[in-house]
Amino acid sequence: MSALPATSRAWHLVARPHGWPEPTDFALRETPVTEPAEGRILVKNLHFSVDPYMRGRMNDVKSYIAPFQLDQPMDGGAVGEVIASNAEGFAVGDHVLHGLGWRDYADVPAKHAKKVDANLAPLSAYLGVLGMPGLTAYAGLLEVASFKEGDAVFVSGAAGAVGSQVGQIARLKGASRVIGSAGSDEKVKLLVEEYGFDAAFNYKNGPVAEQLKEAAPEGIDVYFDNVGGDHLEAAISRLNLHGRITICGMIAGYNDTEPTPGPRNMAMIIGKRLRLQGLMVQDHGALQPQFVQDVASWIASGELKYNETFVEGIENGVDAFLGLLRGENTGKMIVSPTK
Ligand code: NDP
Repeated sequence: MSALPATSRAWHLVARPHGWPEPTDFALRETPVTEPAEGRILVKNLHFSVDPYMRGRMNDVKSYIAPFQLDQPMDGGAVGEVIASNAEGFAVGDHVLHGLGWRDYADVPAKHAKKVDANLAPLSAYLGVLGMPGLTAYAGLLEVASFKEGDAVFVSGAAGAVGSQVGQIARLKGASRVIGSAGSDEKVKLLVEEYGFDAAFNYKNGPVAEQLKEAAPEGIDVYFDNVGGDHLEAAISRLNLHGRITICGMIAGYNDTEPTPGPRNMAMIIGKRLRLQGLMVQDHGALQPQFVQDVASWIASGELKYNETFVEGIENGVDAFLGLLRGENTGKMIVSPTK
């Protein structure tokens, strides 16, 4: 067995952000590495995920997931290689997906690790297109929004991990029109030219309501909301009779210090018989096998494309997270901690 590293570094939350997080809210701390105890494995993290939901975990509020504890390592999705094992069924060299990200080496209870095959897909894909964001897109469109062939679909955050997959799955499943919004002209170009959206607009170039009206002259049947705010209001106005909204995320408000005002046109929900439904990806585990089968085959055939934005070096982990909130990623934002 090769020698273990002497130390591991992990990002800790040291102060709860008020509004936009500051680099000083975080600290990179070093701890000694020891042989894994019975039932545990030591994993060299090759990639870890930074996700928008982690902003919510920085607040000390009761939610669907426990807040990060101050002065403790943060956690989240990661993939890596087992470098020492004290657990049956796991050998040195195995690749695993687990929940102890934000660090370069992770001492993981084997029961919380899942083996993944690096020959089937690049390891980073298990954090994005074939992982949690991918399932979010798949379940949120097909199950929560009850998508059906011929629906016109609008998705916000469309150049991100979830959004780019929503639009492409809608296209592959026979949407009559797929419309996306994103925060730069380059992203808009990518949506149309690489992902096959029918129309896309840069929400920073003008009012969302006007741009959506132009992009969807016949209205929309499904809105997949990653953003909230003016996007949600515009979508309610554009939805056709019996339209459906999947409320997946509201990133426009994640750093707000005051409660976000609701859409001003809620009364339209009545006459149009709209349905708004929240989505929690963990409720949709039963779809996992079908999701992996469909998405893996679409990737293999070239029908579904995906992008990843890699940030190298654990010391850049917090910058990667802040960059994600600012829209510096195209597709899944991933940190590769050991350069
Ligand atoms: P993304 O890869 O989409 O990254 C976040 C993106 O949000 C940025 O790239 C940025 O792109 C966009 N953004 C940031 N601020 C704003 C703003 N003010 N207005 C509009 N867009 C903004 O992240 P994910 O794909 O991982 O997540 C997308 C959404 O899905 C998030 O809201 C997340 O919380 C939610 N989610 C929900 C899950 C659930 O179970 N409910 C599970 C997973 C994700 P741009 O340049 O276009 O502004």
